[in-house]
Amino acid sequence: MPEGRIIKALSGFYYVEYNDEIIQCRGRGNFRKKKVSPLVGDFVTFEAEQPTDGYILEIKDRKNELNRPPIANVDQAVLVMSACEPAFDDVLLDRLLVHIESKDIQPIICITKLDLVSGHHQKTIAHYADCYRNIGYPVVLTSSKDQKGIDEFKQYFDGKISVLAGQSGVGKSSLLNTLDSSFNIETDEISRHLGRGKHTTRHVELLPIGNGYIADTPGFSSLEFTDIDENELSLCFPEMRNLSAECKFRGCTHLAEPQCAVKEAVSDGKISEHRYQHYKQFYEEIKNRKRRY
Ligand code: GDP
Ligand code: ZN
Repeated sequence: MPEGRIIKALSGFYYVEYNDEIIQCRGRGNFRKKKVSPLVGDFVTFEAEQPTDGYILEIKDRKNELNRPPIANVDQAVLVMSACEPAFDDVLLDRLLVHIESKDIQPIICITKLDLVSGHHQKTIAHYADCYRNIGYPVVLTSSKDQKGIDEFKQYFDGKISVLAGQSGVGKSSLLNTLDSSFNIETDEISRHLGRGKHTTRHVELLPIGNGYIADTPGFSSLEFTDIDENELSLCFPEMRNLSAECKFRGCTHLAEPQCAVKEAVSDGKISEHRYQHYKQFYEEIKNRKRRY
């Protein structure tokens, strides 16, 4: 049975890429009984006598899945932050990083609108970039306006399924169009010109880039830590993850315990103060959330 990947879902049809062809399929088969619906990004087996008349038979096990946008088997998430307009927000960045880490997706940080900053402000951005690179995250600095960093940025997408994340207005749609002008994604400017809010599509499509795909709809819009346990939070901070074994107490929360390797690393400047503060903030948030429900 041929196996392909769903790259688009629309009006009850699934478009499956197989050997450089797109096969239009309907759902049928075992997954119905299991109450799983095919998602964009799924690997599926199908049968088709003609490219416009196929049936999906089986959905292969997923590596991960997102709800918004509905997409499976995501390899990496590009976290888009703007250097300004809206202002660079390190709490939001860490919040998104925790979400992405918890889904076992590789994060890539992209700081864009670099053309809008200079002097002191530019130094602050460079400092943040260094801080996140030291943790081990890839960081790319870009501008869609003057194409800065775009060639470097493009290299990250080869052979991967990627999704962009980040608050509205940071420049995600502009980046997509700068990566490939044929994407024709609606930016804020275009929607203002059309006199309406940005068109919100309910379907999601994977757009080809290099040897990979990028989702046309941004992800990680819900920023509450619903699926994360406070005791697992430090696993979502790579610079803390491996230190836990060196803390005196097993199950150390890195808050009030003595001889905590994480707190020592913060005092030694090996872990950034702002990252540790956000860890504490998110920890409280998760605990309070649990209390409420
Ligand atoms: P999205 O909501 O994240 O998709 O953001 P958009 O791509 O729609 O961009 C929001 C606004 O920022 C638009 O007015 C864009 O023209 C502007 N913008 C996006 N990228 C850049 C950039 O690199 N430099 C400058 N100066 N403006 C940008
Ligand atoms: Zn500790």
